[in-house]
Amino acid sequence: MFSKKKMVASIATAVALTGVSFVATNEVAPQTFAQQEVKADSWINNYINQNGIQPVSIQYREGTFTNWIPYENGVGKPEGVVVHETATPGATAEDEVSYFNNNWPTIQTYVHAFVDDTSIINIHSADYAVWGAGPTANSKYIQVELCETSSVDAFARSVANDAYYVASKLHQYGLPVEYGKTVVSHDQTSQWWHETTHTDPTGYFAKWNYDMEQFTALVNQYYSTMDGSNTNSGNTNTGNTNTGTNNGGVSSNTSEGTVTVKNPSSFMVPLVAFNNHGGITKSNRGLANNTPWYTDQTKTYNGHTYYRVSTNEWVMDSYATFTAK
Ligand SMILES: [Zn+2]
Repeated sequence: MFSKKKMVASIATAVALTGVSFVATNEVAPQTFAQQEVKADSWINNYINQNGIQPVSIQYREGTFTNWIPYENGVGKPEGVVVHETATPGATAEDEVSYFNNNWPTIQTYVHAFVDDTSIINIHSADYAVWGAGPTANSKYIQVELCETSSVDAFARSVANDAYYVASKLHQYGLPVEYGKTVVSHDQTSQWWHETTHTDPTGYFAKWNYDMEQFTALVNQYYSTMDGSNTNSGNTNTGNTNTGTNNGGVSSNTSEGTVTVKNPSSFMVPLVAFNNHGGITKSNRGLANNTPWYTDQTKTYNGHTYYRVSTNEWVMDSYATFTAK
């Protein structure tokens, strides 16, 4: 029974592996002005965006945890992610992975992933439950531990990676981004079910003037760039994480120059992202009026030309004046 279960789990891990792909292409730096975050609700999130910090990709390694526990809704049916913080200054994700792989039978604790400023290491298939919080939270949620850092830049990178991991898992399992529902703190689960007394990551976040709602906004930012995402609905698509690319009516061109943007009916110019199904999704970010932006590509879609101003953020010709380089 033991080895049979493990075999099933290996297959689930392989599926999960192909399911997550986020290729960060070169960030296109704005020419003159720093990128303005219209939803400026967090200085750390702004720091991440203004400095073009991109999350790293998720490493999948099989850990030593030999329990293959279905969630209360079944295998492959988590209900969200619990965000933890290790409370171990100086310990990297790599250190924590070794420690938990060696000691989980004694300490009776294991989580799905550890994240720090330079890596995201997934050590147990998120199709199965682990021992990160109390029994109730364990039976519902994926569990991820954030490692402590000691500089603003490292903290920003670590939460970018953490938010990206959470976004990837929610997207993989077809879950929406909802603070207090699909994105929860260990602190919240302790208050709800009184099965643990831990309050992480609330105190550690507060040290950096950060909180779970700001973190959730960052999760949402990454989630909204993921193929087929729909952040406003609970019934996002599931299981099609490996669809072929079909760019429908979109055609691309290389075209270097500057676009000066202006939206006469608002204080900012909307940005859109192109998805792999030949459509566009609205970004929750915008550009300040009358600012010049470097652009290297155009796309034609629905009779409009769109100018690329960052990895997958485009501005429509109605708001842009293009000057070739
Ligand atoms: Zn915790």
